[in-house]
Order: sequence, then structure tokens, then C-alpha cells
Amino acid sequence: MRTIGLIGGMSWESTALYYKLINERVRDRMGKLHSAPLLLYSYDFQEIKEMQYSGRWAYAAASLADVARRLEGAGAGAIILCTNTMHKLAPELTAQLTIPFIHIGDATAQRIRAKGYRRVGLLGTKFTMEEDFYTDRLRAHDLDVLIPSADERADVNRIIYDELCLGVVAAPSRRRYQDVMAALVARGAECIILGCTEITMLVGAADTSVETFDTTAIHAETAADFAIG
Ligand code: GLU
Repeated sequence: MRTIGLIGGMSWESTALYYKLINERVRDRMGKLHSAPLLLYSYDFQEIKEMQYSGRWAYAAASLADVARRLEGAGAGAIILCTNTMHKLAPELTAQLTIPFIHIGDATAQRIRAKGYRRVGLLGTKFTMEEDFYTDRLRAHDLDVLIPSADERADVNRIIYDELCLGVVAAPSRRRYQDVMAALVARGAECIILGCTEITMLVGAADTSVETFDTTAIHAETAADFAIG
């Protein structure tokens, strides 16, 4: 198997899910005691959040690129960045690599297109929903992207950083996400992208009338399939 280099800790709550999901996929596909060869660099997420909210993106990009290079040097055959939001810096990161970078948006869009959907509702951090680095990536796969209203986006973002990244899974927040997804469906969303790697802790298939696409699971499965080759 090929070794996967994981850049995680954003937050560690979802990196723990990646670790489990990648190994489960390898076990299910290969049997016996097989598990995935992995290298993990796990950030201090408080430092990342401060860079995001103070706009120090160039500094964050240099740090991510340095970590990716070190994982490549340590033997990684591909890089997995375990967060949707930090894919904002995917161009700077891939510029430093000679190994593949498995983009979470591409992996997700391919699954959605394979199911025949075109109009998607997107949940994620304010960066993922409001900036174009992620929505444009989805549009490049011929998807129409709907995002929640400003009030809804503020709640979706707050629940990610103030609750889910701390491992807090609260019923009122689940109800809020259910309502936000229902509003997207009412506007024509044919499916919902759980476009933040912690959202799967809060909601899933049972919380909306349309199909959900869990970026954590999709990205982890794609990584495992790369490792198996
Ligand atoms: N894990 C989240 C994501 O997938 C948010 C944390 C972050 O800002 O990286 O976007």
C-alpha cells in the first residue's frame, strides 16, 4: 500500500474520524489485519483559527506548504488536508508538492455528479460558504451551488467553531441545521453537502429529506482507495 500524509488537527475531532474511517475502509477492502500506512501532522487549531480570523492567510499557506513538504519527505505518497476550509490554500500547497494532493471538493463533486445531481446546498464555515475557492471548485464540476442566508450562515459557522470543534453536539444546534437544510431544499437543492469535516457529528441522512454528502467520509474513502491503489 501507499502511505497517506494527513494534515489534521483542524479540528482534531474530525481528524479522529478520518483516522477511523480510512482504517475501516482498508479493513473492509483488504481483510485480515490490514490497516492504512499513515503519517499525521496535527496542528494546534487555536493557532489556525487565529490566522483565519485575522486574515494571516499567507502565513498559514507557508506553514501548510512546509508541513506538506515534510510529509512528502517522510514518505507520503499523497497529501490529504483534513478540512474543507483550509482548501482555500490548496494552490499554494500543491505548488510545493511532487506527489498528488487529493482535493476534498473534487472528491465530493465527483460523487454527486455520479448520482446525477446538479443543484447542491452547501453547509460549511463562513469561508467555505461565502468565498469562491470552494464554490468555484464545485462549479467546475458543473454543479449549481446554493448557500444559506446570511443569518443562517452565521449560525452554521458559529456552531462549527464554538461547539463541534470542541466536541459539543447539541440538540438545539441540530434543529437549527435541520431548518437550514430544509430552507435549502425549499429553494431547490437536490442534495446537501456537509462541507465542513465536523458537521457529520451533528447531522446526517435522517435530518433532511434529500441525500447528504459527508465530505469527511468521502475524503477518507478516497484516501484509503489511493493507499490500496
Ligand atoms: N473542519 C472544518 C472544515 O472542514 C472547519 C475547521 C477549519 O476552519 O479548518 O472546514
